[in-house]
Amino acid sequence: MRSAGYRDQPARSPWIAQLAPDGAPRPLAADTTTDVVVVGAGIAGVATAFFTLRATTQRVMLVERDRVGRGATGRNAGQLTTYFERPLCDIADAFGAEAAAQAQGAFDNAHDLLDLMTAESGATVRVERFTGHMGMFNLHHLLVHLRCSRVRQQAGLRPEACAVSEEAEFLDEIPAEYAGFYTVVPQQRIGELLETTDDRYRAVLSDRKGCVNSGLLVQQVLGYLERRYPQRFRFHDHTGVERVTVADDGVRVHAGGHTMSTGRVVMCTNGFVDHVVETHDGEPIRLAADQQITGRVAYMTAFAEDQRRTPAAMSYIRNTAIGGDTAYVYVTRRTYDRPADTVTLTCMGGPEYPFHDPAYDPEKPFPGPLLAAMDEEVRPFAQPARPPGLPYDFHWHGLMGYNDGGIRVVGAHPRHPRLLYNLGCNGVGFLPSTYGGHRIARLLAGEPLASTIFDPR
Ligand SMILES: Cc1cc2nc3c(=O)[nH]c(=O)nc-3n(C[C@H](O)[C@H](O)[C@H](O)COP(=O)(O)OP(=O)(O)OC[C@H]3O[C@@H](n4cnc5c(N)ncnc54)[C@H](O)[C@@H]3O)c2cc1C
Repeated sequence: MRSAGYRDQPARSPWIAQLAPDGAPRPLAADTTTDVVVVGAGIAGVATAFFTLRATTQRVMLVERDRVGRGATGRNAGQLTTYFERPLCDIADAFGAEAAAQAQGAFDNAHDLLDLMTAESGATVRVERFTGHMGMFNLHHLLVHLRCSRVRQQAGLRPEACAVSEEAEFLDEIPAEYAGFYTVVPQQRIGELLETTDDRYRAVLSDRKGCVNSGLLVQQVLGYLERRYPQRFRFHDHTGVERVTVADDGVRVHAGGHTMSTGRVVMCTNGFVDHVVETHDGEPIRLAADQQITGRVAYMTAFAEDQRRTPAAMSYIRNTAIGGDTAYVYVTRRTYDRPADTVTLTCMGGPEYPFHDPAYDPEKPFPGPLLAAMDEEVRPFAQPARPPGLPYDFHWHGLMGYNDGGIRVVGAHPRHPRLLYNLGCNGVGFLPSTYGGHRIARLLAGEPLASTIFDPR
């Protein structure tokens, strides 16, 4: 595949490029017994192991078919953000305002859980925090977000700031009930917040954001767990789980010709199912239809600049209605450490496509025509001073485990309590995975917890 300016490029993620050597592979080499098996060593699995070891005295075994942090956790935009893949106001309509607000509050609090995990493990990965901005251009976008702000306000959650241009064509059409949820500012201010001269953008939503290399974080937390809990924690990579058999008295997890007999299993596989989960009688165990993973492949590219620039996260809605294959494009800018120097790395993303190919390969080259389209469409937001057609330092893609319900799945299967999940709706998944790991640990510790919108059905 070729385009005018760009050829297909080798897949290369800036996060995997920063990982330390993994050492020799450690596949499962014998049958074994434990209390909890966690399947998948991305942020969901590592956070689940971290909080479970901390909250219980149970033995935990973490198994991974590849190496740590090589799934979506090593191939994302690395942005710390807490919004849902579905507007909060829709979730409130579906589940009630209180349940929606509790869920949003749980994601917001995951910032603190992430800080706890980072500090306690002594992880040296760079964590940057700042206010991020999202650009909107029509009344529909704005009203969706004002309705969400009202849900947040009614629940006493941290408000998101909203600025609307005094030149917005729809300014007079904003219903009076939303007065107090936004401020009117000169168009120039909208441009400053979004760092663009694109005057189509008439409103900006601002919230707490951040940037971290989640791949490096999980690699460092894993190292800590191995040092801190040598008696209770085991990690095996190159160990692909083929079959999980759930019975009333225990679970058997089969991988590489060996069996792990365990009390519970927690699936942190990002939802992509290349393994069988079944009852003792061979009946498949599934989630509710809207909780099953459909999946998307998302593409990103990045360029380094020697000049140090302030970290930032901006997204720009692209469609008249929210949704579609390129619902929005996003730019994150962060400080990036290379072996010999420290630079500014600007990441550009947006295009996402439904996941159809079971043989999806994250190392497959990045298509040149897509790079050309991103260079044309996203680069002017990312760095207007950068001329078109220049080479990029990184190009990569990864799997997002979506589900139709737009809500992550965290908890025990309702009919098979030994089977737990921390996966699903993973376009924004870094903090939600961390929240999920903490909740799973509390469940495994035997805490009686109220139900949530994340409960498996
Ligand atoms: C391009 C892109 C950009 C993104 N940007 C952001 C962002 O800016 N902010 C954000 O919050 N989120 C973002 N995400 C989503 C975020 O990366 C994910 O939600 C998060 O990393 C998911 O973590 P995980 O541990 O569930 O999945 P993964 O990191 O994919 O880990 C799952 C692991 O399970 C293993 N596994 C699967 N099946 C088996 C098996 N049978 N046996 C053993 N192991 C198995 C896999 O090998 C993998 O390592 C982005 C995702 C992509 C793809």
